[in-house]
Formats: sequence, structure tokens, C-alpha cells
Amino acid sequence: MSTPRTVLVTGGNRGIGRAIAEEFIAQGHRVAVTARSGSGPDGALTVVADVTDSASLDAAFTAVEAELGPVEVVVANAGITKDTLLLRMSEDDFTSVIDTNLSGAFRVVKRASKGMLKARFGRIVLISSVVGLLGSAGQVNYSASKSGLIGLARSVTRELGARGITANVVAPGFIETDMTAELPEAQQAEYKKSIPAGRFASAEEVAKVVTWIAGDDAGYISGAVIPVDGGLGMGH
Ligand code: NDP
Repeated sequence: MSTPRTVLVTGGNRGIGRAIAEEFIAQGHRVAVTARSGSGPDGALTVVADVTDSASLDAAFTAVEAELGPVEVVVANAGITKDTLLLRMSEDDFTSVIDTNLSGAFRVVKRASKGMLKARFGRIVLISSVVGLLGSAGQVNYSASKSGLIGLARSVTRELGARGITANVVAPGFIETDMTAELPEAQQAEYKKSIPAGRFASAEEVAKVVTWIAGDDAGYISGAVIPVDGGLGMGH
């Protein structure tokens, strides 16, 4: 078992973020989640924060630090989609997705790094997507935001790697959550044909990888992109 840590997961009220929080709790860590609405799983401290707003994030981190101690593991999971084809994509469709998915992760990582530098220890995990590597028609905004996370993690690795801090990207494929439930059934069946594993994954399968990359056994892995995609993105 890994050393118990203080963990903060953004967007931990539902979907993959909630599953990640549940897995950290099951493994004996002190867990907080951010939520704009609702709350995290039993056993997690829920703090209100919007990742597009640094002041709200700062207040959330301060509340977590007061209650659970300095944040040692941060998972930037909060994300949105606003899918449409390039010619129909408004500038707001583009910038709002970047602001949540990429700039949001930047705000979270920047705030978390303060305490991590002091402690000379930290685990940063960014939730990207297979489409950040493959591209995706109708997702110019989302795909760009998810590719950007890779540059972010790798640059953080170069800046902070010597201080006991790792930064990694987990790139899920199709996961059964609200995000994929919105897809028409025919499209879901079409996608499954292109996935070597022939199925979507559960959020728990992503959560297990996130807890592992944040754990004691993965301390020498940094700047990596770890796919959890049933082979969909192979070779990228
Ligand atoms: P959901 O839509 O189920 O959940 C998204 C979470 O992000 C919610 O908790 C939501 O909070 C939160 N969130 C969105 N915007 C903000 C914001 N501005 N500030 C704070 N929190 C916010 O998504 P998933 O669980 O499916 O996805 C989680 C992550 O995994 C995302 O980054 C997504 O891109 C990525 N991913 C998902 C895949 C999938 O197949 N589902 C595949 C690959 C990657 P609220 O409830 O308040 O809206």
C-alpha cells in the first residue's frame, strides 16, 4: 500500500472524477473533491470551486489545507465538451473549452505546486483524452485542450522534477459516463468497432491507473502519457 496522502480531485461530484476520489478513499488516502454543484462520495471533503476562476480555486485549496493538510496529490479532472464542426465552431465554443480544460488545469497545477515545492513532494495527474493524441472531427476545441495538457505536464516535469514532483497525463478512451451517454446508440456501436478491446471502459478502470501513477510505486515516472483506451490510440 502507498503512503497515505492528501489528495484533491477537481470535478469529483460525478463521472470519472468521482470514481477517482472513491478509489483514493478505498486505498486509505485523505481525499477532497471540488464540485460546482452536488458533492463528492462519502468519505471525501467537498469544496466548491470553478476551475475557470482562480480566486475560487485558491479558496478551495485553502479550505482543504486547513482540514486535511497540504495537498500532495492533485488530479486535474474537470472538463467539458462543446462539439461542433470547425466551420460552425464559434470563438466562444473554442475559448470556453480551452478555459476549462487547459487553463483550468494550469490554475490547479499552479496553486498546487506552491505546497508541493515546500514539501519537496508532489504528484500531479492531468486527465487528458485519446482524442488529444488522435484528433477528432467535431472536437477541434476539446482535442486541442487535451493535447495542451501533455505540453503542460512535460514542462512541469522539466521545471519541478528535481523537487520530488511528478506530472503525468492519463489519456482515457471511451468511458461510460454522462459525457459518452449523450452519444447516439448507433454512434456508440460504431466507436466500439474501432476499439481493439471492443467495449467502453468503466470509470473505475481509469481510477485504478490514476491512483497507481500517484502512488509510491510510480515515483520515477514523469512526463508520461498513459493511455486507458483499450488500444484505441495505439502507436501515438
Ligand atoms: P462528466 O461530464 O461526467 O463530469 C465532468 C466534471 O467536470 C463534473 O464534475 C463537472 O462539474 C466538472 N466541471 C466541468 N466544468 C467545470 C468547471 N468550470 N469548474 C469545476 N468543475 C467543472 O465528465 P467525465 O467524468 O466523463 O470526464 C472527466 C474528465 O475525463 C474530463 O476531463 C474529460 O474530458 C475526460 N475524459 C472523459 C472521457 C469519457 O469517455 N467520458 C474520455 C476521455 C477523457 P459539474 O457537475 O458542476 O458540471
